Amino acid sequence: MSDCIFCKIASGEIPTDFVYSDDNIVAFRDLNPQAPVHVLIIPRKHYASAAVVDDEKVFSDLMSGAVKVARALGLEDKGYRMVINTGEEGGQTVLHLHLHLLAGRNLGWPPG
Ligand code: AMP
Repeated sequence: MSDCIFCKIASGEIPTDFVYSDDNIVAFRDLNPQAPVHVLIIPRKHYASAAVVDDEKVFSDLMSGAVKVARALGLEDKGYRMVINTGEEGGQTVLHLHLHLLAGRNLGWPPG
């Protein structure tokens, strides 16, 4: 998608430091972090949201990528949260599927 900011990040059109990348996903720090660690994991392929994904491997790529990032950042002991906001009431603001990896503080429940 030519006007999608996360597609531009994934393709390198917008230079971004990747925390992790492979053939299918990239991970980078959130611009407006909601916790001391806030990393976004996105598929290179554009999907507007989780609701339109037609290949379940996309979800395993995202989750296993997030766990790899969590391990690399040493988050296993204290813990972390993985979140996929989906659609308007789900709080999604960027229409390219992404998984939030949050850590570094006590995360409240239920979320707002
Ligand atoms: P969501 O509300 O689930 O759609 O989350 C979108 C997230 O993308 C927010 O946490 C934003 O802070 C983050 N974000 C938007 N633009 C950028 C960007 N250029 N680089 C990094 N994070 C971004």
